Amino acid sequence: MQIKAPRGTYDILPDEAVKWQWMEQVLRETAERFGYREIRTPMFEHTELFHRGVGESTDIVTKEMYTFLDKSQRSLTLRPEGTASCARALIEHSLYNGTLPIKWYYIGPMFRYDRPQTGRYRQFHQFGIEAFGSRSPYLDAEVLFLLVEILKGLGLPAYELHLNSVGCSQCREEYRRKLIEHITPVKDRLCADCQVRYLQNPLRVLDCKEKSCHQAIADHPTLIDSLCDDCRDHYTLVQKALRDNGIEFVHDDNLVRGLDYYTNTAFEIHIPGIGAQSAVGGGGRYDGLVESCGGPSLPGIGFALGLERLLLALDKYKGVPPAEKQVNVFVAVMQDHLEDRAAALLYRLRQQGIAADKDYNQRSSRAQMKLADKLGAKYVILLGEDEVKGGFVTVRDMKTKEQRKVDQEGLIPFLQERLDNC
Ligand SMILES: [Zn+2]
Ligand SMILES: [Zn+2]
Repeated sequence: MQIKAPRGTYDILPDEAVKWQWMEQVLRETAERFGYREIRTPMFEHTELFHRGVGESTDIVTKEMYTFLDKSQRSLTLRPEGTASCARALIEHSLYNGTLPIKWYYIGPMFRYDRPQTGRYRQFHQFGIEAFGSRSPYLDAEVLFLLVEILKGLGLPAYELHLNSVGCSQCREEYRRKLIEHITPVKDRLCADCQVRYLQNPLRVLDCKEKSCHQAIADHPTLIDSLCDDCRDHYTLVQKALRDNGIEFVHDDNLVRGLDYYTNTAFEIHIPGIGAQSAVGGGGRYDGLVESCGGPSLPGIGFALGLERLLLALDKYKGVPPAEKQVNVFVAVMQDHLEDRAAALLYRLRQQGIAADKDYNQRSSRAQMKLADKLGAKYVILLGEDEVKGGFVTVRDMKTKEQRKVDQEGLIPFLQERLDNC
């Protein structure tokens, strides 16, 4: 039986990998320009971390986690997202005692045992940032500037930024009461999930994926009308900072994050036209997260972007800049017994920083030229009897088809000078 990649996973072959490399470079450079540094956390954690740091009642934790027992009967889970691990690392290394805010970015695979469908995988990739240790609304604004700057850097200027404030635990409590009052008379029209959860967590009805739930609760009271003075001021300042800097957004009353540790700013970023699920990422403030992961009370804010979705948008709108050629120089061997000399020359070129390659399958000289062309070589070095006897090589310019003799000594500078100029 042929062994295939597990369901919900896929290979990124080299032609596709160059797109990822380019995208990752834009992400890293932009985050670093904003003062964020990379953190790499383990791909699996104690299951308990995600129960606390993602939330017991979320779909991720109840339905989608890759959880297993190791040989010591410990329950471990492949990370379904990046934020909980960052909070855990921050607590474990007591970094909250150092200089704040702490600004991190991460990039890598995440795992969810979801039903695979177009653009959704069981191993997928996220880029995310987290900033811990400040409540300033200007930090919220910075995070949003960074998000927008990333899309610009990728050449995806047509985005929609949805923004809301989910308030603090005080103002949200009042809102929950109002919302339950509004929902109770129409509860029979809700989907099965919402009928169960609306009393405990009415905000989840607002972000339910079922249209019928939205219709049932039309004209519901809005969070923004229930914000306390502090939360209202915070939201006003974030919006003003965005306007002052020419960043368009839409206030979205239905954008809520149902978990208790989310506070104030919540956002989602959409790229229209990439299918039913146009959101490429989202995030918000989570002033209660570090505490619920077992640390001190420390505010934080962050977002995550789905890289498969970003790539979908890139393929649709802009494409990725064409990949660099694989090699600059190709060493063509004219006679089999010169293989050792060719190998030595090739190694010398590579040691000098020149990307170079050769044939390893005794191709004819014609076929070697074809291969050189396919690899994108700008110069081919021909190595035959005459060359070895005369102490030179013949260098062929693949564009002009010109050939010239270059002595062994002068070869490296000759190539370096020309490669630098093209
Ligand atoms: Zn409040
Ligand atoms: Zn529902």
